[in-house]
Order: sequence, then C-alpha cells, then structure tokens
Amino acid sequence: MSAQIGVTGLAVMGANLARNLARNGYTVALHNRSVAKTDALLAKHGDEGDFVRTETLRELVDALEKPRRVLIMVKAGAPVDAVVDQLVPLLEEGDIVIDGGNSHYQDTRRREAALAEKGLHFVGVGVSGGEEGALNGPSIMPGGSKESYDALGPLLEKISAKADDGAPCCAWIGTDGAGHFVKMVHNGIEYADMQVIGEAYDLLRSASGIEPAEQAGIFEEWNKGELSSFLIEITAEVLKHVDAKTGKPFVDVVVDAAGQKGTGRWTVQSALDLGSPVSGIAESVFARGISSQAAQRAIAQETLAGHEAEVAVPENFVEDVRQALYASKLVSYAQGLDMLGAAGKEYGWDLKLDEIASLWREGCIIRAALLKDIMAAYKGDSRPANLLFAPAFVESIGRAVPAWRRVVATAVQLGIPVPVFSSSLAYYDALRRKRLPAAVIQGQRDLFGAHTYQRVDGEGTFHTLWGEDHSEISAVDTH
Ligand code: NDP
Repeated sequence: MSAQIGVTGLAVMGANLARNLARNGYTVALHNRSVAKTDALLAKHGDEGDFVRTETLRELVDALEKPRRVLIMVKAGAPVDAVVDQLVPLLEEGDIVIDGGNSHYQDTRRREAALAEKGLHFVGVGVSGGEEGALNGPSIMPGGSKESYDALGPLLEKISAKADDGAPCCAWIGTDGAGHFVKMVHNGIEYADMQVIGEAYDLLRSASGIEPAEQAGIFEEWNKGELSSFLIEITAEVLKHVDAKTGKPFVDVVVDAAGQKGTGRWTVQSALDLGSPVSGIAESVFARGISSQAAQRAIAQETLAGHEAEVAVPENFVEDVRQALYASKLVSYAQGLDMLGAAGKEYGWDLKLDEIASLWREGCIIRAALLKDIMAAYKGDSRPANLLFAPAFVESIGRAVPAWRRVVATAVQLGIPVPVFSSSLAYYDALRRKRLPAAVIQGQRDLFGAHTYQRVDGEGTFHTLWGEDHSEISAVDTH
C-alpha cells in the first residue's frame, strides 16, 4: 500500500498531525529517528486509520506515492537541516519536503532556495493550535511554491480547523518563508494578547480588589461579547482553578516568571529590521523578560520608591478595563498586520490580509470573534493603510478611548505596570498627533551629525550651519 504522505518526527506534534491525516482518510507513512516512538504511536493509535510503519528514511521515501510528500516535524533549528540533508539524496524532482515546525522564516527561505536548485519543493508550514489543534484541526499557514500547494493544499485544508462558515483555516500564504513568517507574527500577536489579559487581571485585582474566582466570572461574561476568544476563555478557567495542595487560587501559587520559546522575540527582531513599530508586541516580550529577572525584582522591592498616589478607582472600572483591553488588543492586531504588510513589500510576498485573518478564525491560539471583523475590513478593495482606519474599528476603538485613558492614568497613579495598555495608547495617540517631537530629533541629528532635514514648506533637503552663523544651506552643498 503506498502512502499519500510521510511524517518524520513523531513527538507530540508530528504524532497528532499523522493521526489527524489518517483519521481524514489518508494513508500515512510513519518515521521517527528512534523507532520506539513510531511503535508507541502504532500500538496506541494504529487503529485510527491506515499507517505504514518504516524504520529508515529510505523506507519512508519508498513507501510514498509520487510526487512524494514528506512532512518533517522535528525540533526546529539544526535537526531540520539534519533531516533535510538525509532526505534530499533519496528524493526525485518534483517531490515536496514540508517543514511543519516552528522554524525561523529566514531558515525556510534558505532551505527553499537550496532545494529549488535540486528541483525539489520545500514548503514551510506554520501550524498553530498546540497538540490539541494538531489532532483535531489546527490553523495552517503554508508557504512555498504555488505549484507545490496544488499537490499539498487539499490534504492540509482537509485536516485544518474549519471556520463557522465552513471555510478551511488553511490557505496558501506566499512563496518561500511566507508561511513561517505569518506564523511567527501570529505568535507575536499571541504574546501581546496574553499580556493585555494579564494587565487586565492585575488591574482588577490590585486596583479593585477583585479575587481570581470572581474575576473568572467577569472573564466568562467578557467572553460573550466583542472580546470573545480562546485566550479569554482559558483565562477564566485558569483564574477559577484552586490549588489542591494549599486551597489558594492557582495563580497565587505559580511563580510569576513567564517563559518563552522565542517566536515573540523573533517577531520583534524582524520588526526592527523592517522598521515596523510593533510596540505592543515588543512590550509583551519585554514584560516576560522583566518577570524573569527575579534577583533585580527582589532588590527593587526593597530599594526603589513608589510614591503611588491616593487616587480613587473610577466608577465602572471593570467596564473601563474591558474597553481598554479591547482597544489594546486591537492595536496589537493592527501592529502585527502592519508588519505583515511591510514584510510583503520587503520579501515580495503578496500577503492577503483578509485570508490570513480568515485562517486565524479557528484552530489557532489567537482565534477570536474579532477576526471576523478584521477579515471584513480587508475584504475586496477595502484595504485600509492600517487596521485601525477601517470604518468599523475607527468607531469601536474611538468608543473605547475615554475608558482606555482612565485605565492607563489610574494604573500609572497606582504604580501598576501596564506596558501594553499604555504603549498601545501611545501608538494610537502618536498616529493621530499632528506634530510629533521627531522634528526636534531631526534638529539634534542635523546638529551633531549633519544628517540633514526636510522643511514643511517646500521640497529639498537642508542642513543648518550650526557651528557657524546658523544659516541654512541646501544639503547637496554639505557633501
Ligand atoms: P520537539 O520539538 O520536542 O522535537 C522532538 C522530535 O524531534 C522527536 O521526534 C525527535 O526524535 C526529533 N529530533 C530531534 N533532533 C533530531 C535530529 N537531529 N534528527 C532527527 N530527529 C530529531 O517536538 P514537538 O512535537 O513538540 O514539536 C515539533 C515542532 O513543532 C517544533 O518545531 C515545535 O516548535 C513545533 N510546534 C510545537 C507546538 C507544541 O505545542 N509542542 C505547537 C506548534 C508548533 P527522537 O524521538 O528520535 O528524539
């Protein structure tokens, strides 16, 4: 029996994707570096569909119908190169190598170019949804040649999550590293989304004294409205949970140092390269960094003065926080999507933001009711320069602004850090502001480095002779 797809790397993600493929009627050839994982999978789930057991990559390749489709689900980084290097000599022109791990998009671009020279397709696929999603329907972001998508797309669309209109949460994203890039930005938005929820929790607890169990009810309520999302839903569950050992709220017994595996950091690094102002995403990565600086935090608690003000918490503060959370969340999405636009220009990807919003609607960690409106905002010819400029969002974020300002002001007065709430508001205000202090910076740059400037009242580039009589010359004269 020849298999339609092979999977190598059968840890949790690979095993669950293989099972998902088999449950959807595909014959799946299985391979893992250590055969024990293959056998464990077959022993436990071998009856879920048609599997072909293989022990070597040669056997895996021989088990596949042509063009061969080999899905690599090994640890990101050097292991992917190691597996690709072993696979390539075994494959034939037109075969498709798929990397479904969390690879860096630049690695994917490099691998795609190298395999294209050998007549092979390399497809970098972003997969979101964790183990559960991999098994029951993840959100899938494939990048690579369009031709390879024709052969691979139907399988991926079949195993992907489906939105409520039945659309698969999978679509061809663009060439080479586009899929992994979009997955990376998805994770960046996820970081910001998690942080704003954390900030809302902290405000409700520290400013309003609302205990976690009661907050769980508030989050459940919020989950019925415009904030409805997977992350709000699971936050209610986390806040409700009581530690069996101590009887305390679970969140009070967990060390408050947030871990990270790197995709948030990659998003910020790439954003810096692209000049994309993803301030909320960056603040969320930095917030995890500060949380992990246990030694410095201990010293600061003993030494640094707070001078918190005695301010009354505004009436209807819970609703204010909800609105601030909505507005900050929207800014995070706007920044992430803006970054996708910049990357599209830089790397020649024709990224369709409506399709990307569409395939984030289900299966992935940032799935949210909001994505339906984001999808609508980019549909057809209506392509706002920034998500916030779409008429529906001009209106909804505008409505939230008074509450957003009250919340940030209250947090600042009480000494409660809200880095993403406040930086998102600063982003919103910076976009709106008629004149920014960038003019002063241009003056400083021209003074110390003759970096030149442009004038508001005409064309041209100028330099002021700061060390002489402060007269202005056309910049061409400075060189
Ligand atoms: P791991 O990242 O833990 O990787 C373990 C697998 O990699 C094992 O099958 C292991 O084989 C194999 N492996 C490691 N090094 C090599 C090598 N040099 N040569 C061959 N095989 C090797 O597995 P996960 O299932 O957690 O993740 C797979 C990918 O999916 C990763 O890129 C991850 O970032 C990504 N991902 C994970 C998610 C999650 O929730 N876990 C969510 C979304 C994406 P062996 O058994 O022989 O050691």
